[in-house]
Amino acid sequence: MADLFTTVVTSPLAKRAGVPQPTQLRRYTPGGPLIEGPVLLAGGGRFEKSLRVRLDEAGVAVVSAADDTEDRLGALILDLSAALDPTELAQLRTIGAPAVKRLAKNARVVVIGTDSATLTDVTEVVTQRALEGFSRSLAKELRLGATGNLVLAQGEAHDGVWSAVEFLLSGRSAYVDGQVVRVGDTAGTNQESVKPLAGKVAVVTGAARGIGAEIARVLARDGATVVAVDIPAAGEALARVANEVKGTALQVDVTAPGAGAAIVDHATQRHGAIDIVIHNAGITRDRLFVNLDEDRWDSVIDVNLRSILRMNEAILGEGGLGRGGRIVCLSSIAGIAGNRGQTNYGASKAGVIGLVTALATQVKDRGITVNAVAPGFIETEMTARIPFATREMGRRINSLQQGGLPKDVAETIAWLSQPGAAAVTGQVVRVCGQSWLGA
Ligand code: NAD
Repeated sequence: MADLFTTVVTSPLAKRAGVPQPTQLRRYTPGGPLIEGPVLLAGGGRFEKSLRVRLDEAGVAVVSAADDTEDRLGALILDLSAALDPTELAQLRTIGAPAVKRLAKNARVVVIGTDSATLTDVTEVVTQRALEGFSRSLAKELRLGATGNLVLAQGEAHDGVWSAVEFLLSGRSAYVDGQVVRVGDTAGTNQESVKPLAGKVAVVTGAARGIGAEIARVLARDGATVVAVDIPAAGEALARVANEVKGTALQVDVTAPGAGAAIVDHATQRHGAIDIVIHNAGITRDRLFVNLDEDRWDSVIDVNLRSILRMNEAILGEGGLGRGGRIVCLSSIAGIAGNRGQTNYGASKAGVIGLVTALATQVKDRGITVNAVAPGFIETEMTARIPFATREMGRRINSLQQGGLPKDVAETIAWLSQPGAAAVTGQVVRVCGQSWLGA
């Protein structure tokens, strides 16, 4: 239900007075079209050909810059991955500017480049790095629910690039805006399109409510068998979620020394395997730093960070995640930009980013990916309790001028959990509508 502020700012009077109106975002429905309207694909990069084939297979009409059509574009894909010199960036403007004028509501702009970490020539590095500033700036100018993101490829991973592009075009990425997604060189795995997680067993911690409950729903919708984990005190709500998603419930405090082993035992004994682990359980205990007592500090660090380190020992140990395994952790923009009153929480969520970066490298050879999702302002019970003025500010200070939904976070996690996302690891994907906070 809309609150007072939303009712006021979306009223006919406010619209006539020129108050910027948030657009209803296009969200994913299984079996629906990937994108509405044709896609203009250009740039001459090394992925253009394979993307054209994939788009065609997905039933999307692909047009080129020279095509004489008046149709509103569903998306613009500019593949500049082969650009070696800054003069080649001119096509961003010559092709991009007229195309952006023709974008439909809720359209997508996806720029594809080469990860400059894989380049040595200074001119090439400069050219590719320029794409970051371009994409983030363009995303801030897009209107009517349209988003702009950059995919940086490290090699020739055509499956990995398609996985990222498909996610960014679809309604799954409704609240992902102004982001840079790096795609490594790991070969992808085929997956079923409507149930990409069919046959997988997924564990979700903190699943009794909020974002965790929605992650459980979306993973189950995509075909996974879900083990819903939460503290015994949340047992009733947990059982409801587990029943709803036709999974099983496991009452365990993630800070307990045996939590990791209990999770692995439950998943393997009840469902025969453990393929995906979503470390979602988290708490806030906000206070200005000078007033922060030992309990508020210790509990936040323990639940949000140390428990993940401890549980991962069992999850990555004998009988735990095998080849193709997925770990996704919940970070937060507070861990990137910092937040007043949240030194404990900001430390824990920044620590999570360190964890995924370091662990991803360690388990790469085992075919396991480790990523984080950093939500911005998400409409949950937690954010509904934030004081009015702060809450409205949180909602508005992003390019999409609205808060995201738990579903938006869940969709991004579900994408990172897919077999096709094998080349995406060690990443932090922000689900924040391109929040003004942090880079
Ligand atoms: P929430 O408080 O609604 O739900 C958290 C769940 O975790 C609850 O069901 C709770 O019982 C469970 N939990 C807490 N401690 C636990 C423990 N020791 N063991 C097992 N379960 C435990 O929170 P939410 O808004 O749904 O947030 C989910 C995650 O997303 C958290 O990690 C949070 O930090 C992160 N996040 C949320 C937002 C937002 O806007 N809501 C923004 C950024 C990050």
